[in-house]
Amino acid sequence: MNVEEFREFGKASVDYIADYIENIRKKRVLPSVEPGYLKNEIPETAPPSGEQWRNVLSDVDRVILPGLTHWHSPHFHAYFPTANSFPGVVGELFLSGLGCVSTDWQSNPACVELEVRMMDWLAKMLGLPEHFLNESEGPGGGVIQNAASESTLVGVLSAKQKTVEMVLKEHPHLTDVDVKAKLVTYSSKESNSSVEKASLLASVPMRLLPTDAECRLRGNVLQEAIDKDKTKGLIPCCVVASLGTTGTCGFDDLEEIGRICRKENIWLHVDAAYAGAALVCPEYRYLLKGIEYVDSFNFNPHKWFLTNSDCSAMWFKNTKDAEAAFKVKATIPEEPLFEPQIENWQIPTTRRFRALKLWFVMRLYGVEGIQRHIRQQVSLAKYLEQLVRADEKFELLVSRLGVVGFRIKGRDYLTQMLLNKITERKNLYLMPYYFQNKLMVRFVVCSRLTEKEDIDFAWNEIKCITNEMQTNIIN
Ligand code: PLP
Repeated sequence: MNVEEFREFGKASVDYIADYIENIRKKRVLPSVEPGYLKNEIPETAPPSGEQWRNVLSDVDRVILPGLTHWHSPHFHAYFPTANSFPGVVGELFLSGLGCVSTDWQSNPACVELEVRMMDWLAKMLGLPEHFLNESEGPGGGVIQNAASESTLVGVLSAKQKTVEMVLKEHPHLTDVDVKAKLVTYSSKESNSSVEKASLLASVPMRLLPTDAECRLRGNVLQEAIDKDKTKGLIPCCVVASLGTTGTCGFDDLEEIGRICRKENIWLHVDAAYAGAALVCPEYRYLLKGIEYVDSFNFNPHKWFLTNSDCSAMWFKNTKDAEAAFKVKATIPEEPLFEPQIENWQIPTTRRFRALKLWFVMRLYGVEGIQRHIRQQVSLAKYLEQLVRADEKFELLVSRLGVVGFRIKGRDYLTQMLLNKITERKNLYLMPYYFQNKLMVRFVVCSRLTEKEDIDFAWNEIKCITNEMQTNIIN
């Protein structure tokens, strides 16, 4: 493909994507294809010689679109938001178009320096403590990771290294193998599966502790688990607290947990993958109570912060701890040309220029634009909450930020039937969740395109199916 063809293909593709987004509301959110649908549409081997871009684009339309779940449809209410905004899309285009990655500063000064600055912009926007800033006097700092899963792993590995060093200092007769075999970590049963996965990858067992009725991990439960492990000779090493659990957007009690972590000298990592974005609005900053105890903190701009995937922001109170876990000795040691050396706080060797899309998003929306987005989505969830409360057939179980959980009153099979029928009709995409031993419909305001009329549409669909079901049951 030459540069002229690239221009044509690129422009046609931008038009295609703009049309797709503009018309997405008209599409059914779930596709109607059967498993294996693509097999007969795509040849078994790659073409021997290059094809025309027009043929490729027309096959996107013919083969890919029919099998697509429309994650940005205003009727998509499953999982959590996956960010997609025009500034984010153009940011992604630029970062792959410029095509450069970075390792240290020399390898790509703009990439490193913009990331350092963007992480400070973000921290200030969320009201995070000064000590997390790259520009602060102390050893704190922030870096962009691929995913929340990776951030949690980086947190757990940093905690592991720090604890091993600490214990060996106190007990020099031990070996690091002895210490590693005794480490143990904690989180709640409600934490995302990626948290447990981080402990598996780090080879440190994790206790998934029960939560209270509001899905919060409480201090007394944590303390009890720590005491029990210590009597067995184990060494507590890390707690992963959730601000905004995946199931019900529950918030662990950071202050109670933090006090214990400080007393017991345990690393505290916070997974705020979804809910962290809400901190851009000062009215949600109360959720940060206890943040002074936190060693590492993560949220995903690629969820609710309008920045296309991948982009996961992570801050450390003391980046030296991450360096101790991740910095490998250089073959030719050199004085760094630039501090901080963010490449030492991550797992991959190189990094994409993700700061560029964050820069586009924050400049083109501004703080107020992002606040408006969060408030609008929360207000839509509140609107649905009112609709549920006003209907005596339904029971509201949770409503936190953009997450609303409700069920048909009575036995679980009614809600299960409702969910099955919703999936059959393909007009809405919703997920089930068990909360307080009851099956609920988990409804999340996901797409930035969702408006009040879409909530009305969803509620009418839900009510209509429920009425039909009840008529059928009576007859
Ligand atoms: N943590 C929470 C609370 C989540 O809800 C999710 C995904 O939805 C994750 C972590 C994993 O995020 P990622 O896909 O960025 O690893």
